[in-house]
Amino acid sequence: MNTVIKGFKYRIYPTEKQEIQLNKTFGCVRFVYNQILAKKIDLYKEDKDNKQLKNKTTCNNYCNRELKKEYPWLKEVDKFALTNSIYNLDNAYKKFFTEHIGFPKFKSKKNHYYSYITNFTNNNIKVDFNNNKIQLPKLKWIKAKLHREFKGKILFATVSKTPSGKYFVSFNVECEHQELKQNNNKIAMDLGIKDLLITSNGTKIDNKKLTYKYEQKLAKLQRQIAKKKIGSQNWKKQRIKIARLHEKITNTRKDNLHKISHKMIKENQLIFSENLNIKGMVKNHNLAKSIHDCGWYELTRQLTYKSEWNGRKYHKVDRYYPSSQLCNVCGYKNEDTKNLNIRFWECPQCNTKHDRDENASINILNQGLKELELEKVS
Ligand SMILES: [Zn+2]
Repeated sequence: MNTVIKGFKYRIYPTEKQEIQLNKTFGCVRFVYNQILAKKIDLYKEDKDNKQLKNKTTCNNYCNRELKKEYPWLKEVDKFALTNSIYNLDNAYKKFFTEHIGFPKFKSKKNHYYSYITNFTNNNIKVDFNNNKIQLPKLKWIKAKLHREFKGKILFATVSKTPSGKYFVSFNVECEHQELKQNNNKIAMDLGIKDLLITSNGTKIDNKKLTYKYEQKLAKLQRQIAKKKIGSQNWKKQRIKIARLHEKITNTRKDNLHKISHKMIKENQLIFSENLNIKGMVKNHNLAKSIHDCGWYELTRQLTYKSEWNGRKYHKVDRYYPSSQLCNVCGYKNEDTKNLNIRFWECPQCNTKHDRDENASINILNQGLKELELEKVS
């Protein structure tokens, strides 16, 4: 047994009164975030070394002492939500200067996805699995669909509203985890665009088929909304329909990725993949959509934490290792395969016939094992 932090997400069904309170909280969180960001920018313009809103504590004090006095309605919502919003902003702001990540943007009402984070202290959050309800600060009991139970200590909860108007609570819970049984198997995968992935034992997993029919439907809805007057009742209805379908596609893909990563981790002790520079690749717009659809990033993320939970080793091979170009039998390097359209090729040296991706995944397995050996030696 080991202790891990797991996420548990549930749909909640607020009453009209609770819905008003939730939306008020989303609004206040956005308001405080934007107010402090604007103030930070002003102070910086006046004097680069200004100490006034220098860290998260001074920002939070500014909210408590100044903003709440000027805008007393801020006191009506969950105080942890405001503090967490401020901490997030401060974090993003610091990252801009230290890691040169994009400057924090003002939060807009128009993205239709709202959320806030609240902390667990003094039993202010309760989950009643027998009666399907959740208690959150300032909200009392909310009806919920608690489809799976957890045991453990709640650390914090994220409350969100999706663009189609559904509400969710997701808990980060510290819980005990029973590791999967050890085994002696190993596997590598080549993450492709045509197929989601091809494993070194020849299994192909297609992600596209799964959501094809939804995507056809989505395209149709998008053609219809283009003909409607922006902001009209019909346009609003259509927007919700589209949002609902988007959510459906995202969830179906994510569920599928969970099934894949679970199976990989359950059946294998060692798991290898390429080390993709996903951020760099997404900048290439032709590839961007396919990569986004495949969920490469999500899959590698799941493999990372699931392998940690279960005492597995997930290793990504050297980014510059040419897994697609080498013949896995004799090692001949075929530069022609740099062309992504070449799906099959025959090795001119040993005459082995290769499926591009299957060959690549076998190479990744061999290279991964070699790298782990080297790691052991050094
Ligand atoms: Zn060969």
